[in-house]
Amino acid sequence: MENKSVVITGGSRGIGRACAIMFASHGYDVLIGYSKNAEAAEKTIAEIKKYGVKCAAYCADISKKDEARRLISKAMFEFGKVDVLVNNAGIARAALMTDVTESDFHELFATNVGGCYFTSQAVIPEMIGAGGGKIINISSMWGQVGASCETLYSATKAAIIGLTKAMAKELAPSRINVNCVAPGVIDTEMNACYDEDTMWDLQEKTPLSRLGTPEDIANAVYFLASEAGSFITGEVLAVNGGFVI
Ligand code: NDP
Repeated sequence: MENKSVVITGGSRGIGRACAIMFASHGYDVLIGYSKNAEAAEKTIAEIKKYGVKCAAYCADISKKDEARRLISKAMFEFGKVDVLVNNAGIARAALMTDVTESDFHELFATNVGGCYFTSQAVIPEMIGAGGGKIINISSMWGQVGASCETLYSATKAAIIGLTKAMAKELAPSRINVNCVAPGVIDTEMNACYDEDTMWDLQEKTPLSRLGTPEDIANAVYFLASEAGSFITGEVLAVNGGFVI
């Protein structure tokens, strides 16, 4: 039987890498996107290859519509279809609102929201042509409740929740499920800017008393993409150890 296929933006590192390995372990062909870190992407590809599936890495800045489109074209070229799109790539910026620059504003919205939007725009006709598909967007608990000193990041992640719900309504008649995962504090390089005390404090504030792992998020993403999630659309699945309830 033909493998299913998945495109994961930001698949070189962190949560995206864990998703890529999770899908490969379930027999999916995998295309990972990345923007700068070719070495990390190659390491992820080497890991995926152990599962004997087709895989490739593609450098595309998904904040740019043309590059997002090229990422999906690459998947169509490699696999002939895209069953699942995971819009995971994202960037954060911790700063007081009064210190956020206009360039920060445009960069975060273009990457976090534009990335989801443009990549989805490119994949939707392909999914419709194939009779359906699954799109999973990665938001954040800060998109649900807002974080001090992360106003810009919180705004982009809240936008992803609104986008997910609107897409779910528009695309349900085309048999495309659109859902969103809202992670809590996950142990990845995104949090490397925080010192040990801050990370310890965040762990203490998490009722389940630990940081999340990229695999915690990959499990939720895979569930939403699987048959088990086939009647779920427009949902925000919180995976945060109880930090936000
Ligand atoms: P990392 O910083 O570890 O990895 C980010 C990934 O996104 C990398 O693969 C990076 O590629 C890619 N990327 C960044 N900018 C672009 C771009 N313009 N075009 C294409 N790819 C890009 O992040 P995490 O794994 O921690 O986070 C993944 C997602 O989860 C993000 O959306 C984040 O906001 C969200 N999240 C993370 C949380 C956490 O605590 N870690 C909590 C809540 C949500 P490259 O390797 O080339 O730089």
